[in-house]
Amino acid sequence: MPTSPNTRVERGRRAILDALNQSFPATRQELSRRTGLAPSTVAGIVRGLLAEGLVHEHAATERAGRGRPSSPLSPHRPPGYLVGIDFGHTHVSAALASTAQQVVAEDRVPVDVDGSAGHALDRAGALVAGLLDRSKVPAGSVLRTVAGIPGPINQATGRIQSATILAGWAGVRPREELTARLGGEVTIANDAELAALAEHTHGAARGVSDLIYVKASHGIGAGLILAGRRYTGAYGASGEIGHTLVQEGGAQCRCGQRGCLESVVSIGEVWRQLIAAGLPLPEQPDELSLDALVGDPVVARIVADAGRRLGRVLSDLCNALDPAMLVIGGELATGGEPLLEGIRESLRRFAQPAISDRVHVRSSALGARAALVGALALAATEAII
Ligand SMILES: [Zn+2]
Repeated sequence: MPTSPNTRVERGRRAILDALNQSFPATRQELSRRTGLAPSTVAGIVRGLLAEGLVHEHAATERAGRGRPSSPLSPHRPPGYLVGIDFGHTHVSAALASTAQQVVAEDRVPVDVDGSAGHALDRAGALVAGLLDRSKVPAGSVLRTVAGIPGPINQATGRIQSATILAGWAGVRPREELTARLGGEVTIANDAELAALAEHTHGAARGVSDLIYVKASHGIGAGLILAGRRYTGAYGASGEIGHTLVQEGGAQCRCGQRGCLESVVSIGEVWRQLIAAGLPLPEQPDELSLDALVGDPVVARIVADAGRRLGRVLSDLCNALDPAMLVIGGELATGGEPLLEGIRESLRRFAQPAISDRVHVRSSALGARAALVGALALAATEAII
């Protein structure tokens, strides 16, 4: 089906506003370079955005060669607030921020998110109400709420689409549920996608237009930024790499298959291996963090092995997508350098040399806050469209 001109213009508008939100002020030439849109297309779209008051133009400070003066542009920041929410598997966190993404208040509560969607949504509603109350911000001043969910969201229906990945949420429409609790405009996105956006906008991958963010925690998911844009797939289910088959007839996975990546690599699995290796660890720690442990050579070997197994799957993904950077986040990323080195080792072995020689593998710069920061970044873009 050919793309209608209106859809093309709408996509172009969106790309320019996204690019401006990520870094501003920016000239038309810079926007053309960052979005891949032709200079004449950028000029036309910017004219429209200026007329609508969605961007404003600063006085030209320098001349670009002999051409016309190059006036930098910035997004218009309407007065008001943004709310970001991150549903983890065992917690909910929320932040209230200005439209320039300056955090005013932030909080986090432990919740069994997987077990009951209704309970987790109620807790999120109470958390946001508490933040507004504490900051003396009326609910009506919130321009946009963005919530990250650790599962695939069907973009057409808004429903959580997998009964196997987030069992307690199957068929739930989180946007409608949160709108009923909070009011206003609510957007739902996958948490790894939001974390990818956060690392791209404010974290380890600033200025990198092709990156894969890997959330390696209790499960394994990926968020993709391709050609500078968030890529969610045709139906919103991209990045479910945790259910890649790595071991025929292997351990049972929560999705019903055997031998999935996340049944052999997860923070829980690494923890079990550490206990089996005789390390004196609590069986159910509150927070699973490896950074204090990886100085021990046994721990470093177990973590590096998890990195190699994860890297095997990432090699195939790199061969298909040729990203400039892999950003590793989630609790397993607290394994630090041994984990990254394990991933690099597999990339050297299994990815094409043209790719493995160039791809950078880094830890998340935003850590456990990545999805929340990404929720605010997306809310900032959505609030001005
Ligand atoms: Zn699975």
